[in-house]
Amino acid sequence: MITSKTIARFRDLPTPFYFYDLDVLHSTCQKVLEESGKAGFKVHYAVKANPNPRILKIISSYGFGADCVSYNEIERAISCGFEHSETVFAGVGKTDRDIEAALEADILCYNCESIPEMEVINSIAKKHNKVATIALRINPYIEAHTHKYITTGVAESKFGVNTWELKEVLERLKSLQNLNLKGIHFHIGSQITKMSVFKSLCSRINDLQELISSQNIDLEIINVGGGLGIDYGNPEKAPRFEEYFSLIREFVKLRPDQKLHFEPGRSLVGQCGSLISKVLYIKSGSNTTFAIIDAGMTDLIRPALYQAVHKIENLTSNGKAVRYDVVGPVCESADSFAKYIELPETRRGDLIAIRSAGAYGEAMASRYNLRDLPGVVFSDEI
Ligand SMILES: *Cc1c(COP(=O)(O)O)cnc(C)c1O
Repeated sequence: MITSKTIARFRDLPTPFYFYDLDVLHSTCQKVLEESGKAGFKVHYAVKANPNPRILKIISSYGFGADCVSYNEIERAISCGFEHSETVFAGVGKTDRDIEAALEADILCYNCESIPEMEVINSIAKKHNKVATIALRINPYIEAHTHKYITTGVAESKFGVNTWELKEVLERLKSLQNLNLKGIHFHIGSQITKMSVFKSLCSRINDLQELISSQNIDLEIINVGGGLGIDYGNPEKAPRFEEYFSLIREFVKLRPDQKLHFEPGRSLVGQCGSLISKVLYIKSGSNTTFAIIDAGMTDLIRPALYQAVHKIENLTSNGKAVRYDVVGPVCESADSFAKYIELPETRRGDLIAIRSAGAYGEAMASRYNLRDLPGVVFSDEI
């Protein structure tokens, strides 16, 4: 929680910085552990959502595995306590170097997305005299009802193998001797808030299972990916894990000896982070008043990239409500956090919190305009 004591400490710190509330992170992990444990699910945290080492160490301490999209992520995850044997590797464009390094690290599974990729993994495994375990990422053609940039399972998506080529893929796999197909994998998008979307995914999974078992292939792993959304309007609210896990458990028809795998990213870390910034100037525009803050799209790109809306709070004013456009200092018109929102009357030097910024915030920070990267402060340090 951001208390008045925390705010007093914030005043002495250079802004902007990410503030991570570790109590929130722990309680989220605990909840996921309980809910997934009840049903015997395996959880692999999607490292790309927030690869901060301290965050990773906390998440790995709950015994979760890691879902990585580059070898650098695999290396970071393992150095922060994740087991190599509980690490999966996804992505449409795995490089030869990444594949080779992952093979040496002895990871659990490659989530494969195309025949050419499987051929490369097979030949690298052959060279090393190894057999690589894979799961097939399948594009299930399900509209995730989220922003188009974070929709990944529709016909135009670059991700996964198409259902119409599935038979051909399974046929091709028979001749790839250094690959061992253990599962199927799906990830249809991110920030999904309609539970009915996950229900559609389950019924598609059941159909695909019929098709695959008709080819006499037994699968051990059904990996439903990540995507569970959080409530950006209410940063204090925990994600709907209970509803989500029980829905998947109810609707996926598991066969004997099959295990469900999950890859939550945003839902694990989103609500534990806030971006703390200071107001530089209040400037009158022709139709609006700008609150120009010292955090910009280089610190948190989600509003510019996905029109994401984060809750914004002025931590240091309790004046009467006034409307502002809250913008950053970067030389891009997209560098805007909110338009025409109500804040208590705001002045130069006020502290602003952009909430629910724990996922895809610090992870996506850049040095555009040669700006400094944002700082990081943990709740147990202040
Ligand atoms: C990004 C990603 C995830 C995590 O998605 P969230 O929406 O953050 O839960 C899971 N699996 C794969 C393959 C991903 O690319």
